[in-house]
Amino acid sequence: MQKINPDEYKHILFFTGAGMSAESGVPTYRGRGGVWNEYRWEDYACQTAFERDPERVLKFHELRRQAVLECEPHAGHYIISDMEKRHPNVTVVTQNIDGMHQRAGSQNVEELHGSLWRLRCPWHGVVEDVGKTYRCYTCEDCGSWLRPDIVWFGDALDQYVMKDAVTAIRDCDLFISIGTSAVVYPAAGFPRIAKDAGAVCIEINPVPTELSPMYDESIQSTAGTILPVLF
Ligand code: NAD
Repeated sequence: MQKINPDEYKHILFFTGAGMSAESGVPTYRGRGGVWNEYRWEDYACQTAFERDPERVLKFHELRRQAVLECEPHAGHYIISDMEKRHPNVTVVTQNIDGMHQRAGSQNVEELHGSLWRLRCPWHGVVEDVGKTYRCYTCEDCGSWLRPDIVWFGDALDQYVMKDAVTAIRDCDLFISIGTSAVVYPAAGFPRIAKDAGAVCIEINPVPTELSPMYDESIQSTAGTILPVLF
């Protein structure tokens, strides 16, 4: 396998999914040990559940935060954040809500599905909130319940984030997909957008995906193992 020389590309884009965080130990949602085997998303991860019992939903998300805080970014996260320091144009588009890329030092991150580390008031916008527990469950200005700024089941994606992500994907000339099964649209359509725009497309996943044949190279390995080899 050939090393990639980042200097040969003007804009490198990493598109990451749950597999990116697997070697950090972040629990998955589905599959073995997945959160949705233990908890019903209907009770914890949709607007209806939040309106029915906001405190229960917030407490559930505090558990998610505690699980993530017990994990650390791995070598692959640091390869990506180091590249952002050395290369003029690096973007991360992630489906993850765990903030691992930012904890490793990445700054140019589009979070398609929101973040565990933000809350949102329906009237006063988004507040950053980092820690095992939320600082406050209600808005300081109006007293409304704050909801996790996460794209739950039944929610639409944030159109501004989508627009920025798609603009970056159209602009990149190296597109590296890491740890996503490429089944959930619209994100599953991103590799095709990059390909159609002329980018070199590489996939990193221990198992082939439906989209593997589309890639210029599909590498069957894990993020933490292969990123230090590739760069
Ligand atoms: P997914 O559909 O994104 O699939 C995960 C993929 O990662 C699989 O194809 C798997 O083969 C691959 N993978 C596993 N270990 C890997 C590794 N070490 N290196 C590279 N690839 C690896 O995941 P899902 O669990 O079905 O999640 C559905 C949605 O929920 C997605 O949007 C996902 O990103 C999100 N999610 C986020 C987090 C998080 O924030 N950490 C955790 C779970 C799920």
